[in-house]
Amino acid sequence: MVNPGRSSGIEALIQLLAKVPGLGPRSARRAALHLIKRRESLMEPLARALTQTAENVKTCSVCQNIDVTDPCSICTDPKRDRSQICVVEEVGDLWAMERVVGFRGLYHVLGGTLSALDGIGPQDLHIGALVERARDPGVTEVILATNATVDGQTTAHYIADRLSDANVTISGLAHGVPMGGELDYLDEGTLSAALKARKPV
Ligand code: ZN
Repeated sequence: MVNPGRSSGIEALIQLLAKVPGLGPRSARRAALHLIKRRESLMEPLARALTQTAENVKTCSVCQNIDVTDPCSICTDPKRDRSQICVVEEVGDLWAMERVVGFRGLYHVLGGTLSALDGIGPQDLHIGALVERARDPGVTEVILATNATVDGQTTAHYIADRLSDANVTISGLAHGVPMGGELDYLDEGTLSAALKARKPV
């Protein structure tokens, strides 16, 4: 593709930016220009943040959250309620739950959902590790906060089954979550209400 007026370096930047979710080629061009105009105040700090994150980011060996420490800052936070584990599909869902004022328990990130269509079975998700964690006598409640999609709900039922002989209350988010809804797109009020009104599965 010929792009008159831009050297290959800037073109490479634009093409990389265009791969970021939410940015298409047009937004990528605008973002690149914006960054270049704010080289010292934005572009250089962003470049440093990207490098540092790329070098230090890791997956928590306990909950599969991503952070720069392992175990992550949630798992090691002494102020967290260690009796509750909230099970989510992806790290983005964990971030959504964190925005909900009031949830101060721990998390478990599954890494997806069961899906017959995509050939994803229990062994492809972090379910075994969750069952292990739920055996800890200090854990009294597992909150299944998978998305309100068919796969999300199938996964929640499967996990509830696997946890049936663990000594924990198993609850799910209330139906404040619209069917087909993904946690990451919910406003705080809706998600907060769904968490408060959670009920045994
Ligand atoms: Zn963790």
